[in-house]
Amino acid sequence: MPNNSTSDMKLSGIVENDLRFVWHPFTAQPANPPVNIVSAQALYYVDEHGKKYIDAISSWWVNLHGHSHPHIVNAIAEQASKNAHSIFSGFTHPSAVVLAERILQLLPGKMDKVFFSDDGSTAVEVGIKMAVQYFENRGLRKPGIIALENAYHGDTFGSMSVGARNVFTQAFSQLLFSVNHLPVPTKENKSSSIELLNRLLSIGDIGIFIFEPLVQGAGGMKMYEAELLSEMIEICKSHGVICIADEVMTGFGRTGTMFASDQLNVKPDIICLSKGLTGGVMPLGLTACSKFIYDAFFSVSSDKTFFHGHSFTGNPLACAAANASLDIFEKENTIEKIKLIEETHQRFAEKLRGKLIHWEVRCKGTILAFEYQNESSGYLSAIGAKAAEFLFRHGILIRPLGNVYYLLPPYCITPEELQYIYSIIEKFHAEYP
Ligand SMILES: *Cc1c(COP(=O)(O)O)cnc(C)c1O
Repeated sequence: MPNNSTSDMKLSGIVENDLRFVWHPFTAQPANPPVNIVSAQALYYVDEHGKKYIDAISSWWVNLHGHSHPHIVNAIAEQASKNAHSIFSGFTHPSAVVLAERILQLLPGKMDKVFFSDDGSTAVEVGIKMAVQYFENRGLRKPGIIALENAYHGDTFGSMSVGARNVFTQAFSQLLFSVNHLPVPTKENKSSSIELLNRLLSIGDIGIFIFEPLVQGAGGMKMYEAELLSEMIEICKSHGVICIADEVMTGFGRTGTMFASDQLNVKPDIICLSKGLTGGVMPLGLTACSKFIYDAFFSVSSDKTFFHGHSFTGNPLACAAANASLDIFEKENTIEKIKLIEETHQRFAEKLRGKLIHWEVRCKGTILAFEYQNESSGYLSAIGAKAAEFLFRHGILIRPLGNVYYLLPPYCITPEELQYIYSIIEKFHAEYP
């Protein structure tokens, strides 16, 4: 995070008490004073001093249509006045049912059922547990899991286990279940990756393949080809392996299509969603599965029941926000806005590629990433933080991943606002080519 203590400004009571009482995520302790945001509207945060910042990372990859979009705000208010929360086992409510039907229509492949949870990590946990119990219910022994190197699937134990082993998971390494990690497929390693995949599958106990389709987010906005992933999914499916697409970050237009899996020739069996699902304003997770998986839980007795649920499963406020977000996609031609952002990013990326010596510039959909190419790079490398500080001084909020920094803006951003951000980025790279 940007260091807010550069000025000698006296800390406000809120910030002082924050430092006393609050423990923030992914934040080394003791923490630098956080920025106190008093308002978020469309593309902008406003802090307690009245300073405005462009939210160029969609508030940690969640916001889609801009902050406080009136249609979403109204939908939540209206829902709150009718039913703010009701139990979701044995009971249902219209917002959840409508949302489930709409999501199933939108998702690629033939998805049959939707299971609600709270966030991205729980959506992934549900996906893994569903697949594991599918084999159990079918009387098959296939406990093996394949995941990709450098993956991030969340911070709960199951989702950490399928993620990369690194500084974030180190303290828990003894407690994580073991997973086979495959290299992210590239044109160069394709044949060796496919060979390794086939070797793992020949052992026979692999039941699950989980991946972030097309873009690995927390792993540094690493991008890879749909074609290569499709090939891996096809091979896995031919061995009866359940393929889980973690679209928690890539879902809802980030990669240029509604879902990254839309770009795959072979579709996953399970898709995990969260982050942008509610337009980025309420926590909600969702795991969709194909019919053959659901069918394995179908039984008159309770021995095949999926015993999983969270207190706030199917929360009506979150479902109402999600429905409102889908309305906006339809009413405001959001996919067109996404295409425009993608084209604008690509032109800028092309321009910079001709100028930069030490940086790789990557673009996929609305995500534009810059990676500093140096052997001393890694999460703790300082160059990303330098970029973040520089942009922050110019009123732009980004959040680097070590030697990588990136733009992942809400779709309400205008070409003029993008040009402003690009101009600041060009200034930064005048110092760091
Ligand atoms: C953010 C993220 C998660 C975890 O979601 P939370 O809501 O933070 O629990 C899981 N998978 C991917 C790909 C993510 O980007």
